Amino acid sequence: MHRVVTRWSPLHVALGLSFGVATCGVAACGAANDEAPHAHRAQKVSRSQTPSRAQKGPEHPTSKQDRASTGRIQKDDRAVPLSDSAPPHDEEADQVLRLSGSESTSLGGPNAGSIEGAVALPRRGRGFRHNPRRPQDARYASVEVVQALIRAARVVHETMDGGELTVNDLGYERGGPIPSHGSHQNGRDVDVLFYLNGADGRPMPSVGAPLDPEGQGVDFKDLSDPSDDVAVQIDVPRTFRFVRALLEDPVAVVQRIFVAEHIRTMLLREAARVSAPSAIVERFGDLTCQPSYPHDDHFHFRFFCTAEDIRKGCLDAMPIYPWHRAELRRLGVRPKWAGTRRLKAPITTKQQARRRAGPLHKSVRRWLARREAWMKQPHPGRRYCR
Ligand SMILES: [Zn+2]
Repeated sequence: MHRVVTRWSPLHVALGLSFGVATCGVAACGAANDEAPHAHRAQKVSRSQTPSRAQKGPEHPTSKQDRASTGRIQKDDRAVPLSDSAPPHDEEADQVLRLSGSESTSLGGPNAGSIEGAVALPRRGRGFRHNPRRPQDARYASVEVVQALIRAARVVHETMDGGELTVNDLGYERGGPIPSHGSHQNGRDVDVLFYLNGADGRPMPSVGAPLDPEGQGVDFKDLSDPSDDVAVQIDVPRTFRFVRALLEDPVAVVQRIFVAEHIRTMLLREAARVSAPSAIVERFGDLTCQPSYPHDDHFHFRFFCTAEDIRKGCLDAMPIYPWHRAELRRLGVRPKWAGTRRLKAPITTKQQARRRAGPLHKSVRRWLARREAWMKQPHPGRRYCR
């Protein structure tokens, strides 16, 4: 028996099937993969900044008729262009950036909490988009967190032409439990896909495809149909630039970065290549860890409560680092620990998971077998995080 949660994408059903791993039930979450548009919940209206347009439809508008019946990936299928360029005006994001952090208040902890005055991440802005295939009512977080995402995406957009950040789930407008996640409850958690390139090395819209130790993966889409597979590769420079910008944010303070060990290694190598500031490299090294669900298809970022929110009841998860305690002391406040209470995900059997996954073509089965290598605890000395 193992835990699974609702809203499985086909690939994540298979991941549960093959590895007996919950996407949820750990403090961090999984289920980063896109879900089918028909699974969208009814859309809520933002308090003030919700953009008016919904973006729907497939991310890879490729034609199956054009593909060879052998199932091999054709060159044209691999070259998936970005959907379109970023909007010239970014008024919705600018509106969010003008908000005061005092407008939102996180209450309780990431695994048992709520939020007042949450703000929605705009569906699209300069250098970013919310994944149109994720639930549109899960775009809410604290003002500081949404602002930090917008700022960091802009840094990448302005310093590295091309590419686009894809943000998956944040939380609900009032916080609380959210399907597919054990946390994401008090407006301080967000899932972010890695920047990806297609097989031609050009930026493409990100998808929640697990990546191997070389940073390569496959967007399998229909797991029974090899002809719609698209090869993808992590865009390490853009991904690291985004993380660096988030760690350098003037307001929001990152508490944890849940990510697979091999992705962490790649990003540390990139940090050395670009001679990133040592303080950022150390901070990144300290904050990153691989949970039991390995997060090889997305980051989960968690942010500390602000001093103001701590005074009103915001609780932090561990660890609370000495440098953060010192900063809070300077601000005259002591952090409060959220404790270990967490959401229990529903239980299903391996047989149920197998039935849900349906038929898997050979490459999918081979990939899932390979993936076992990094599903286990990375190596002695660095434990799983929770
Ligand atoms: Zn998450």
